[in-house]
Amino acid sequence: MEQITDHTFITSRLISWYNEHKRDLPWRATSDPYLVWLSEVILQQTRVAQGWNYYLRFVDRFPDVQSLAEAEEEEVLKLWQGLGYYTRARNLHAAAIQITHDFDGKFPSDYTHILSLKGVGKYTAAAIASIAFQEPYAVVDGNVFRVLSRLFAIETPIDTTAGKKTISELAQLLIHPDQPGTYNQAIMDFGAMVCTPSQPKCSDCPLQDFCKAYELREVSLFPVTSRKVAIRNRYFNYFYIIQGGFTFIQKRSESDIWKNLYEFPLVETTEAVDFPALSQTDAFTQLFPKEISLTVDHCHNAKHQLSHQILHTKFYKVELPEGVTFNPPESIIRIEEKDLANYPVSRLTEKYLELI
Ligand code: SF4
Repeated sequence: MEQITDHTFITSRLISWYNEHKRDLPWRATSDPYLVWLSEVILQQTRVAQGWNYYLRFVDRFPDVQSLAEAEEEEVLKLWQGLGYYTRARNLHAAAIQITHDFDGKFPSDYTHILSLKGVGKYTAAAIASIAFQEPYAVVDGNVFRVLSRLFAIETPIDTTAGKKTISELAQLLIHPDQPGTYNQAIMDFGAMVCTPSQPKCSDCPLQDFCKAYELREVSLFPVTSRKVAIRNRYFNYFYIIQGGFTFIQKRSESDIWKNLYEFPLVETTEAVDFPALSQTDAFTQLFPKEISLTVDHCHNAKHQLSHQILHTKFYKVELPEGVTFNPPESIIRIEEKDLANYPVSRLTEKYLELI
C-alpha cells in the first residue's frame, strides 16, 4: 500500500505534537491499570469536563480494585449518579469482583485477559494494555476513524466491515512499538483538538503535509460513510475570460466542495450541454448579457473524480475585446492574469492551468 510509506513520520509527528500540546488530565499522571480503566470507562459517552469530577470522586472513594470489589453495588451506582449509562457502573463493579476471584485481586496485565473482563471491549482493552503495560494494541474509535480516513483519504465507507478493517490495520501499523500508550493518547487528543469532526484546524495541523484529504482539498468529504457514498454526477462549465491582461475569478462560498477556493466563473447545469444550449441558460445570460458577443478560443473537457462526485467539466476560454463593457455579478472579481497563481484553487482548476 503506497499510502503507508509515510507512517513512521506520521507517528513521530503525532507523538511530538502530543508531548507539546497534550491535555493535562488527572488520569494522565498514572499508568496504574485500575486508574486507566476507571478513566476510560467514565469517559465512554461522557465529555472530559463532565467526567473529571466523577473520576476524582471514584478514586477518592475506591482507590484500588479491592475497595471497589468490596463495595455494595448500590453505593457504586450512587456515586455514578448523573453520568448516565449505568451499565458501565454495574460492569465496573462486576469486573472488580471478577479480578479478585479470577486474578487474585491483581489487574490482568495482557490484552487478552483484560478483554475478558466484564464490560471491557476492544477499545478499552487496547487503551489499558498500551498505557499500563506498553502492549502494542492500537485504539480504534470515532476519533481514529475520522483522523485516519482523512489522512489517507480512505474511500471505503467506514461503517462497513471492509472500512473498519482498513482503518484498524492502518491504526495498528501506525502504533509506536516502544511508546504504544503515548501514541494511542496522542491520536485521541489530536482527533479531539485538531482533526475535529467539523472545522478541523488544517492550517495549524502538524500532519498537513501527509494528509491526502487536505492535498485533494476534500477534507469535508471524509470520513466517507455508506449513507454519504451515492455517486453524484455534476456538470460544470467554466469560463476562462480574457480581456486585455485581465481575467475573472470567484470564491466558492457555498457549503459544497472546495469551499473558499477560487475558480473561474461557473455555470453548473443538470446535464451535459453543448455551447449553443449552454448559451440559452439563465445562468449564462446573467453572466454574459446578450449584447456581449463572445469568441470561444477553445473548450477543454475534463472529467474529475471526487470521492462521491463525478464532475464533468468544460473549460471555455473566451476572449472579450478590450473596449467591451463587462459587468459580471458581484461575486466575480477582476484580476491581472499574471496573478492567477496567487489564488488557491481546486486540483481540477490547477490541472487546467498547468495544461494551458
Ligand atoms: S490536515 Fe486537516 S484533515 Fe488532515 S489531518 Fe490535519 S486537521 Fe485533519
